[in-house]
Amino acid sequence: MKKYLFIDRDGTLVSEPEDEQIDSIAKVRLVPGVIPALLKLKQAGYSFVMVSNQDGLGTASFPLEDFTLSHEFILNLLASQGIEFEQVLICPHKPEENCNCRKPKLGLVMAYLKDCSWDREQSYFIGDRDSDLQMGKNMGIKALRLCDQNASVPQQNGLSWQEIADQICSKSRICTIERKTRETEIKVRVNLDKTGDNSFDTGIGFFDHMLDQIATHGGFSLQVKVKGDLEVDAHHTIEDTGIVLGQALKEALLDKRGIGRFGFALPMDEVYAAVFTDSINPDPQDKTKVALDISGRPYCVLNFKGQLSEGMVGQFPVQMTSHFFHSMATAMGLTLHMEVTDGNCHHQIEALFKAFGRALRRALEIKGNELPSSKGSL
Ligand SMILES: [Mg+2]
Ligand SMILES: [Zn+2]
Repeated sequence: MKKYLFIDRDGTLVSEPEDEQIDSIAKVRLVPGVIPALLKLKQAGYSFVMVSNQDGLGTASFPLEDFTLSHEFILNLLASQGIEFEQVLICPHKPEENCNCRKPKLGLVMAYLKDCSWDREQSYFIGDRDSDLQMGKNMGIKALRLCDQNASVPQQNGLSWQEIADQICSKSRICTIERKTRETEIKVRVNLDKTGDNSFDTGIGFFDHMLDQIATHGGFSLQVKVKGDLEVDAHHTIEDTGIVLGQALKEALLDKRGIGRFGFALPMDEVYAAVFTDSINPDPQDKTKVALDISGRPYCVLNFKGQLSEGMVGQFPVQMTSHFFHSMATAMGLTLHMEVTDGNCHHQIEALFKAFGRALRRALEIKGNELPSSKGSL
């Protein structure tokens, strides 16, 4: 479903001048951060509609030509950076004219309201004034207030463009899962649209270090807390963490719209690790074309060319490496092929976790709004 950002102009895209009237190019200043934020939101699949009140437009105090010149300048400036509006809707009336198109009245957006094909749940109204927030409410969508640090008129509390982009994007791809069995108590939180804030506490130092590789190289934020039956051994802790992490990633992906889906390979010192999918790359000799596939069809092939030795790396039993990836792939619905060459065991495992993270980074990345499948489902 299509999702929209309905965006106010003055005080939101461009800073509001003291006289609240942009009637010359000299008065045009972009609100800080607006371009990177809108590009991020465009990548997340949003379409933009501008909705603006321009009091008394076309009267002697605000001639149409003056408005048009600066308005076109703003639109061209934004378009040159990749930001275009599906529609630009403007009310030219003064409040006392009592028209039905002045925000927060719904006249301007009536055509959108009659159209049921877009997603109200995920669409927003963004503006700097109470009337913008009210407009969102009247339209039945969420509204966010922007705070323009550049403005020459006093500002209400609000968010920066970066915060708005983060909030909208991350809202859709955050998942927390808590799971308790007799053997383990696990809490995993992922935010696919944010990096940092990582924390790992599984009771197994090397495993914490490996999970950090997935998050850091995967380019997402991950917190893992596990209380497992380490007095028995590390088996349940590692296996169950794989399962819960797989579930959390799967749920955070939602409908998987726009994701890259496939992913890659990585050398580490003497070791080479590859993660690939047979459906995309049937030739395992060709090691540079690599991917995992968020296919919805769990399938895991671990082809460790160099034998992973038996034994331990710190508190981490080496043979749990394959078990971890199997558990996660199954829980996440991942087609996963992994390959690693001979070498130092710590390096082999670390290279596999890093390569997995890198593969995930590509596969999780949002590029547009399409479902990357010819079948229409993943
Ligand atoms: Mg405004
Ligand atoms: Zn109007």
